[in-house]
Amino acid sequence: MTNAYPHLLAPLDLGFTTLKNRVLMGSMHTGLEETRDWNRVAEFYATRARGGVGLMVTGGMAPNREGGVFPGAAGLFNDEDIANHRIVTDRVHEAGGKICMQILHAGRYAYGKDCVAPSAIKSPISPFPPKELDEDGIEKQITDFVTAAVRAREAGYDGVEVMGSEGYFLNQFLVTHTNKRTDRWGGSLENRMRLPIEVVTRVREAVGPDFIIIYRLSMIDLVPNGQTFDEVVTLAKAIEAAGATILNTGIGWHEARIPTIATSVPRRAFAWVTKKLMGQVGIPLITSNRINTPQVAEGVLAEGCADMVSMARPFLADPDFVAKAAVGRADTIAPCIACNQACLDHTFSSKMSSCLVNPRACAETELTVAPAASPKTIALVGAGPAGLSAAITAAERGHKVVLFDMATEIGGQLNMAKQVPGKEEFHGLVDYFGTALVEAGVELRLGTAATADMLAGYDEVVIATGVIPRDPGIPGQDLPHVVSYIDVLRGKVTAGKTVIVIGAGGIGFDVAEYLVTGGSPTEDLPAWMREWGVTDPEQARGGLSPDGPRPDAATRAVTLLQRKAEKPGRRLGKTTGWIHRATLQMKGVKMVGGVNYEEITAEGLRVSYGEARENPTLLAADTIVLCAGQLPERSLADALGDLGVACHIIGGADVAAELDAKRAIDQGTRLAAVL
Ligand code: NAP
Ligand code: SF4
Repeated sequence: MTNAYPHLLAPLDLGFTTLKNRVLMGSMHTGLEETRDWNRVAEFYATRARGGVGLMVTGGMAPNREGGVFPGAAGLFNDEDIANHRIVTDRVHEAGGKICMQILHAGRYAYGKDCVAPSAIKSPISPFPPKELDEDGIEKQITDFVTAAVRAREAGYDGVEVMGSEGYFLNQFLVTHTNKRTDRWGGSLENRMRLPIEVVTRVREAVGPDFIIIYRLSMIDLVPNGQTFDEVVTLAKAIEAAGATILNTGIGWHEARIPTIATSVPRRAFAWVTKKLMGQVGIPLITSNRINTPQVAEGVLAEGCADMVSMARPFLADPDFVAKAAVGRADTIAPCIACNQACLDHTFSSKMSSCLVNPRACAETELTVAPAASPKTIALVGAGPAGLSAAITAAERGHKVVLFDMATEIGGQLNMAKQVPGKEEFHGLVDYFGTALVEAGVELRLGTAATADMLAGYDEVVIATGVIPRDPGIPGQDLPHVVSYIDVLRGKVTAGKTVIVIGAGGIGFDVAEYLVTGGSPTEDLPAWMREWGVTDPEQARGGLSPDGPRPDAATRAVTLLQRKAEKPGRRLGKTTGWIHRATLQMKGVKMVGGVNYEEITAEGLRVSYGEARENPTLLAADTIVLCAGQLPERSLADALGDLGVACHIIGGADVAAELDAKRAIDQGTRLAAVL
């Protein structure tokens, strides 16, 4: 068989060891290690090792208590920790994999009162002001890095990744934004670089020559007074000389106001940054960020942007990413859509990570999909995310599954999401479901309105009929210029130049974005960089354009309203809500809370404000779009009940409030796993 990914699947010889391909599973903080369920941790990594990834990096392990991202963050603090991590590394090695442990010192990003930093400057993303380290304090941090690396070796790891980017501790020494010191650890570039170089030098001395040291180096800081590219090159050379085996790319500090991994960031948006460093050092370079298919990864390597590619979240979505690519079945890879909804949003809510498209991620020992003891006939109604995932999982278990949908295409509400600029990844998700249905042998009956009578003879009936829009009951809503979000996103109506969107939930934000955007910047890297003010770090420190963000003009004037008095968008995704708010702000969308909808007239919407219904105002609009939430579509379930046919109800048909694809897919998969 010809190999479609010759660069991606080529081995990488590191001298003392060889990686079987150019794919790194980048570090992710899943919360697994903190459970101390080492069988579960081991199975997570071993599953990915079996899937063929060349090298993996663990979630960040704290070198000491003060450097932990939060109090109680995992690390190798004693012999028991070493023995526990041994369970993980043994299981990975048995599965034919290689694994490095990331040493992550959070510095001023640590969410704890004992946090330390080069200078006592509080970060905008943590409430705790850090303590400025003195000379002894710095020496202790270096020693703790070294101890962590030595313990990682004792625990059987193939190497360590020293986290030097994303604005964490070592990165904080590098820039004057956070390092105001006047001693030998601050001031000149030589002094600011001293700590990362010292750490790598002393780690190399302690671990010996045949141990991988990856250094994750911030190649574009995306913060004011970040590094120049000359400084990046100087540091990279010094880190190589200090003994690093591989340099990995870090993009942007966590406090940067520029999205770096969200779904609206173009694919491979930062591969050009790594490419600038190619040829300047002799050790392999890894590039990163928004690379999520073998095709994109291969392209990046073939174009000489890097020697290796890091993907992290794609391995939550599909542990068999590499194995599937290697046998020419990239179409069967469950795609990471970069939504953050079940991974980073969970991490930042102190919940275990998983994956929207793969609820089994981080639940490998808990959510098992075993062959059914006695195969059944199963009718599923509704080919949205809940129905699709249930159908595929049930069929994979050996059941005979028939999936009905009234529509002529699968995907349900996913088909609306994919129309929204910045959500193009949903195309790939629907395509994946289509392939998976065929692979699993699901019988698909599209364009078929299932009736209760049709469903009566099956062993199991699952209703996944989704939602219907809520009727907000606003006087005048029957006027012709009042439309539903469905009509807008399905392209049935074209909105006028001045639009009011009623309802500022996920869909209201999506509709507003759709209405103000011309061509999607997600499909056009130069336009996206202009929109967010990103430039070549050779032109401006940190890669921040001196002109700031310069988005294209909005294509319409949009006002987004909600009744709640809180800030609109407050309940959007924890790690992505700010991006949606910032995008709309840049496009001049007015976002107003605390509104009462009094009446819709031919001219627009009459509103008042607050509980006292004050300040009556007519907001002029050519078009008014209703995005007032949804209710369960249960008519079929009710009809089945009348006939006495038992059924399972999942997805939006079960609970419409705060429905999203994450809950739908999770519920569908979990039900099908036990049918
Ligand atoms: P939603 O998030 O529940 O928002 C519904 C909106 O309608 C709210 O702004 C609500 O605000 C308003 N509303 C509720 N009852 C109303 C009434 N009787 N009259 C007028 N306004 C009313 O629902 P959605 O926007 O339809 O989204 C559905 C689900 O899809 C959400 O759970 C969301 O998580 C998911 N989704 C997520 C994203 C994302 O970016 N992650 C994108 C799209 C969809 P007030 O009650 O304050 O007026
Ligand atoms: Fe990717 Fe979303 Fe899954 Fe996270 S939850 S791994 S971003 S698809």
